[in-house]
Amino acid sequence: MKGTAPKTPDTKPQPAHQHFAVSAPGKYLGIFASRLPTSTAAGAAITAGGLALALAICWTIDHLLVPLVNPGWFFLPVVALVGYRWGWRLGLLATAGEVLLVWYCFTPPRFWQGLPDSDGFARLLSVTGGTLFVLALVDLAARQQRSATALANENAALFRQEAERREHVEALNQVGAALSSELDKERLLHLIAQTARDLTGAGFAAFTLRPEDGSSERFHLAAAAGLTPQQEAMFRRMPLGGEGVLAPIYQEQRLVRVGDATKDERAIGQPRGHPLVRSFLGAPLLGRDGTMLGGLLLGHIQPDQFTAEHEALLKGLAAQASVALENARLFEQARARAEELEAVIEGMVDGVALHHANGELVRENRAALQMAEATGTSLATLLMQDVSGVRLCTAENAPLALGERPSRRALAGETIRSMDLRVVWDSGFQWELNVSAAPLHSPQQTIEGVVTVFHDLTVQRRQEREARLYAEAEDRRHLLQTILDELPSGVFIVEGEESRMVLANRAAEATWGVRWQSGAPASDFFRTSGVRIFQADGRPMPIGNLASVQVFRQEEPVRYLQEVIRRPDGTSLPVLVSAVKLPALIEDHQQAASGGSPEHMAAIAMQDISALKEAERLKDEFVALVSHELKNPLTSIKGYTQLLRAQLEAQDGVSLSEQERMCLNVVEEEADRLSALASDVIDVSRLQSGRLVLRIDELDLVALVRQVAERLQITTKAHVLQITAPHESIWLQGDRNRLEQVLLNLIGNAIKYTPLGGSIEISVTQVQDEQSAQVCIQDSGIGIPHEQQARLFARFSRASNASAHGITGTGLGLFLCRELIERHGGRIWLESEEGKGSTFAFILPLIPPDEARES
Ligand code: ADP
Repeated sequence: MKGTAPKTPDTKPQPAHQHFAVSAPGKYLGIFASRLPTSTAAGAAITAGGLALALAICWTIDHLLVPLVNPGWFFLPVVALVGYRWGWRLGLLATAGEVLLVWYCFTPPRFWQGLPDSDGFARLLSVTGGTLFVLALVDLAARQQRSATALANENAALFRQEAERREHVEALNQVGAALSSELDKERLLHLIAQTARDLTGAGFAAFTLRPEDGSSERFHLAAAAGLTPQQEAMFRRMPLGGEGVLAPIYQEQRLVRVGDATKDERAIGQPRGHPLVRSFLGAPLLGRDGTMLGGLLLGHIQPDQFTAEHEALLKGLAAQASVALENARLFEQARARAEELEAVIEGMVDGVALHHANGELVRENRAALQMAEATGTSLATLLMQDVSGVRLCTAENAPLALGERPSRRALAGETIRSMDLRVVWDSGFQWELNVSAAPLHSPQQTIEGVVTVFHDLTVQRRQEREARLYAEAEDRRHLLQTILDELPSGVFIVEGEESRMVLANRAAEATWGVRWQSGAPASDFFRTSGVRIFQADGRPMPIGNLASVQVFRQEEPVRYLQEVIRRPDGTSLPVLVSAVKLPALIEDHQQAASGGSPEHMAAIAMQDISALKEAERLKDEFVALVSHELKNPLTSIKGYTQLLRAQLEAQDGVSLSEQERMCLNVVEEEADRLSALASDVIDVSRLQSGRLVLRIDELDLVALVRQVAERLQITTKAHVLQITAPHESIWLQGDRNRLEQVLLNLIGNAIKYTPLGGSIEISVTQVQDEQSAQVCIQDSGIGIPHEQQARLFARFSRASNASAHGITGTGLGLFLCRELIERHGGRIWLESEEGKGSTFAFILPLIPPDEARES
């Protein structure tokens, strides 16, 4: 499609001499003649030269060879040539020259020395006549030849024009096809410019458009071909189409053709850098509704490069281009709309599926794919056909027949709106779905496919259930609060290991004297509220020992724990606290999902025992007083008994009978027992009122254990006390008398509760990185029933098997041991099996905590 010159048609017109060359000489004469120049001067020169040549030939033959009768024949080719090539006028001149030369040189009397004779005259006439005849024939032939050539040329031109038109139409068709198949606007614009340039042979082609966003009414360069990058950049900067030769294109939507822009009065000059344009051709690009879309501009450095043919071509191209542009715009619009739709479908939280009319699943959106991934089943497929391992049921759990599936029904032309379904996997796992489906109709109203939208109701249903449960729980809680508020005792409910407040009744708030905010953990409440909790003995209660905290750590309820609550205003209230763990009421789904167990709650009741406490205090005081008062007569009884025995044994000849000795022993022992009991009662009363003071000193625990064991070994022969002590001495700080009391009690118990006798093993070791000392006392006695072991350290607590074996006691010893050991910052525990024996052990820090010294 290149080149400015119209192409020569493939079938060339035949040269004229081929049509008329009937003889060889004529043929060669024609060929020779056609090569000679056509100007008159050349004709005259050739005439003169030809005549001279013919004369020379005749002269030579006539004088040297044979006298010529008709030398005129030698001049005939010259006349014929001249007449054929330069016309009959020059032919006549040649004829005249010939006749004159024949007369002068060859007709006697030669050299015009007189008129020729009749014979010579007749020969001259015949030469003249013959030559004129030949000239007439040659002229005729030349004329026919010229007209034949003209006709052939005309034919050739017509043929060429036709071929060109055909070529242009074909080119336009091709361009049209190319343009309409190109939907990318940028490439399309460039293709149009390039095609316009190729078809017209223009130096450059530029394509201008109005900005699509409507930001300007002016036209700007959209694409160009044949421009240097600098020129293109310049064109892009300039607004085009307002003035000069371009004006009619844009203002009147007219085609403009300028032969030479430098001479056109509309031209307003070209800016610097503008490619030199002399020939100019421009056509408007009109939209379907006749609106001006832009212009197609062609330029050429040479003048008069564009013809009417090019004009028509450009017009056709402009029409094709505007259709292609419109197509590209529509395509762009359609694509944008398709992309929008795509984004909407992909962004939907509902699953969307598209089925073909043959039931085949064509596509699923992201949500549908995610659901498929989460469940391992394509729900989109399930809504159309059977899937193994899964059943599709109605909301009421009735299986759904294949024909009843929503996508299938839509395929039959039905529109399904909001149908609740249930997907049941063989594993028992279930999902609730809400499904809508609709057929997709073609313009001919046939069903082309089905669109199905579905979403998982499981979460929604669960949330609804939870909301309902929550409302119910709230109602219950309200009722509970009302009931609790009417109770005289303080009652509150906490949740979780941190004991976060759930609800508290009015009496509980009155007990604390401050409000415990719902949701606040116990540690926060006691840190910030000013409420402090003390044990019955007056020591601060560690937070971990609070009934509300402790209850979560143990299986059994906490019963009757004595606490003293000191309110922020400084007043105190002794309370008896009981706490019971409640089963978790509301299941926490998140926790359950993460494998955690639901949080437990505990109900705590605080009973005001100020009156009781007062009575107990009076009782303790009375008991302590009585015990104290008892000790003096007991000391006297013991003293006088010993004196009596000593005096009787000192008198000569008086010996005590066995019975008298036994009586004295019983009196002494019972006095001891009574005295020990009184001491224990006094100690207990001191401990409870916080009046027991430890006298801390350096002491060797190993030596102390040995001393106590030796003292007790004397009292029994049936038992063997064995001491194991890897260290010779273990020095620690403690109250010597009180630790001795503990050891006497524990080793004494080991002896007492091993009635059949046996070995009692005592070990003293250092433990916990040598920071503590541990004493273990192991016997093989009656042991302690398992269920009674936990409460043995309480006051007056005795195991049932002790009395069954007839062993007497008060149940105060272990209570005192625990209190004393704990006051030293230590801990005491037991391990026992009924009938096999018991091990009592305690551990003491080598350096007791500060409160031990203060107590
Ligand atoms: P008492 O010995 O005066 O009864 P304690 O407080 O010393 O009081 O002991 C409480 C109870 O613990 C005892 O009544 C007994 O049932 C049990 N007990 C203490 N030590 C032993 C032991 N070594 N073996 C078996 N039972 C014991």
